[in-house]
Amino acid sequence: MVFVALGATDEIGASCHFLKINGTGLVLDAGTHPEEEGPASLPHLELLHENPDWHVDHAIVTHAHHDHIGALPVLIQQFPHAHIHMTKATRALADLLLPASARLQRRRLREGSSTARPLFSEKELEVFSYLYLTHELEDEFDVTGLRGRTPIKARLFDAGHVLGAAGVFLRFEEEGEERRIFYSSDTNLRPQSIIPGGAYPEGPIDVLLLESTLGADPEAEQTTRKTEEKKFAEALRRTLERGGAALVPVFALGRGQETLALIDRFKRRGLIPDVPVYTAGSMRAIADLYDKTRFSTPRLNPEFQVFGVPQKRLPRSQNGMRKALAEPSIYVVGSGMMFERTISNELAQMIVEHEKHGIFLVGYAREDAPAGRLLEAAEQGKGTEAVINRARGPQPVHCDVGRFRFSGHSHRRDLIRLVERLRPRKVLLVHGEEKARAWMADNIRFFYPEIEVLMPELGEVVRL
Ligand SMILES: [Zn+2]
Ligand SMILES: [Zn+2]
Repeated sequence: MVFVALGATDEIGASCHFLKINGTGLVLDAGTHPEEEGPASLPHLELLHENPDWHVDHAIVTHAHHDHIGALPVLIQQFPHAHIHMTKATRALADLLLPASARLQRRRLREGSSTARPLFSEKELEVFSYLYLTHELEDEFDVTGLRGRTPIKARLFDAGHVLGAAGVFLRFEEEGEERRIFYSSDTNLRPQSIIPGGAYPEGPIDVLLLESTLGADPEAEQTTRKTEEKKFAEALRRTLERGGAALVPVFALGRGQETLALIDRFKRRGLIPDVPVYTAGSMRAIADLYDKTRFSTPRLNPEFQVFGVPQKRLPRSQNGMRKALAEPSIYVVGSGMMFERTISNELAQMIVEHEKHGIFLVGYAREDAPAGRLLEAAEQGKGTEAVINRARGPQPVHCDVGRFRFSGHSHRRDLIRLVERLRPRKVLLVHGEEKARAWMADNIRFFYPEIEVLMPELGEVVRL
């Protein structure tokens, strides 16, 4: 068995892994890098073309975040005969989010904010959508390739994380023995506000392909959801009661809906005043999908409807935004890391210099992203400058800045617990910055010295 990471494994970039198992070629996820554009955002699919022995029979997409699905249309362009597998909910999200991505790529080229030609068109996506094969959670399906020497069976396990998200369990025979592989993808062992914690196969397994997003975040494991909720409600209340606006940057899929559910609960319990909540873009359509699937996908409370949470559409003009900001109000908008050319970045520039406002982060924020730079400046004290937008230059940070741990990812102790539960012979660490993977590796080696831990690099051929 051969494993090759086709995307960077030492950051949250394009997730894409290739497995060659007894003649069958499998791709797990086909994501794009969130900050790159055009060909630079893609995983290194050319590695597959360079090796005559490598081909793609089946691809399994774990969930609809762009860093896992954004390059799927390009994978299909290059390997049109590949069978594509996912959950039903992920397919519904893909049919919404991939065309939105095609439109955004076209708009950026037209407006001159990008020179990259769109990677795919809406028309192509309409055809591709018919190729997606959907599966119920835990149902077994076949992923054996044409030249496969042994049958390979796959099952999708609920990953927690976001609507539709699944881990991938593979089993096949090799030299008369059954081999088992589990790919965690992005996973959350614990319940959030809407989505329950993940479900996992029984150990022991041979190989665990494990995410490590929060491996370098010691605070995440020291907080509890309850105390974070309390702190978040208090921070919102303080800002709103002094007439300020609260910006809550979120990932449009997942964190956005979970945050709306939380704010709704705060309002109903009287923990925060009943002020307008603004949302924008695809978040509203995603909320609708969360609601439509609430009886057919894992939920904590199937009766709860995200779209039922009163929300207003954010005005797109600077003037309209300024008017909205003049009143106490909450903005639940993307992107979560406040990348440039997103609404949260635009709003943050308008908010950051004013003492009465607040910016509250509720998800993962990389240090070198605008949200990470804002946090760092805020920790150094009021008035410290931060670069939210490079064209605009440094701005003094006077608003309240808070960070609350509601990540859709498991904290690192839980990931170690998952290792304990699955009892793999080998762990391959992916999807995490260098120090995150290093902490995970050290701890797995310390607690389970019998487990071999590998940190594959991009393009490295790992024989398992
Ligand atoms: Zn994800
Ligand atoms: Zn991810």
